[in-house]
Amino acid sequence: MQKIAVIGAGTMGNGIAHVFAQHGFSVHLVDVSQPALDKALATIGKNLDRQIAREVMTAEKKQQTLSNLQTFTSLSSGVQDVQLVVEAATENTDLKLKIFRELDEHTGPATVLATNTSSISITKIAAATSKPGKVIGMHFMNPVPVMKLVEIINGYATEKTVTQQITDLSVQLGKVPCVVNDYPGFIANRILMPMINEAIYSLYEGVAGVTEIDTVMKLGMAHPMGPLQLADFIGLDVCLSILHVLYTGFGNQKYAPCPLLVNMVTAGHLGVKSGAGFYSYTTGSKELTVSERFS
Ligand code: NAD
Repeated sequence: MQKIAVIGAGTMGNGIAHVFAQHGFSVHLVDVSQPALDKALATIGKNLDRQIAREVMTAEKKQQTLSNLQTFTSLSSGVQDVQLVVEAATENTDLKLKIFRELDEHTGPATVLATNTSSISITKIAAATSKPGKVIGMHFMNPVPVMKLVEIINGYATEKTVTQQITDLSVQLGKVPCVVNDYPGFIANRILMPMINEAIYSLYEGVAGVTEIDTVMKLGMAHPMGPLQLADFIGLDVCLSILHVLYTGFGNQKYAPCPLLVNMVTAGHLGVKSGAGFYSYTTGSKELTVSERFS
């Protein structure tokens, strides 16, 4: 694989494009929004500068990386002649099914179609195409240039050779692949989201405040970030939508989203991206908000 397309140039798409371009792949970055593409290129430039400052990148390598990137607003042009597509568009089932129908139409039978979805069934996405054996989950973690894990998810029909290709490719990108099967939440979110939900329930029930909950998990369990702060970083709307997938997928009450989480999302308190969640975010620093109401 030498030429790849990344669909969606948001938080994850720009990171995925960055990592592939840095490793010498020719990358077509596709988004429906030109401003999103412009912002993605600016972000990649800034992140490459950070790597230079940390002495893990040279100015020459930065230029090579940027020259490996091309942007497109048309999916059909962007996926021409690519051997792999990594879809990282907005987490919405109908949107992903539409994109995969288009990918099916505009790519050859051997092109591998990967999705970075956090929670949508790979088997369902694959069923929207005429080549489900070529569809696979390639779940990068945020921030992509920094995080080592790639959770590789086999759909019901994914071919073994495709799993091997994506596993080898992940290693080539300097990542550590873990292959799992396609059930709600895969592994990462099946385990992470109930922990975050339980942390929110603990706050909701008045067991402890935001600081106490996060401190217990950071110092007691050696987590680099407490679950409430992590939820703010992921986005509370994203956490809620993944919990819905787990709840409906397993039909088990233990995945029911905490009413406090539902209220916060309804109120538009989505975490870092909206400036307020369990913490409030102003000029990069965090201040407590919700804990005062529950302490
Ligand atoms: P985002 O909202 O930052 O970016 C999504 C991008 O998709 C936007 O730029 C939007 O313009 C673009 N888009 C929408 N419709 C499109 C279309 N038809 N064609 C091309 N582009 C289109 O979202 P994100 O956080 O980068 O998430 C992307 C995917 O990665 C989701 O499936 C999400 O579940 C998954 N994911 C996110 C994280 C995270 O921490 N944010 C972590 C792992 C996986």
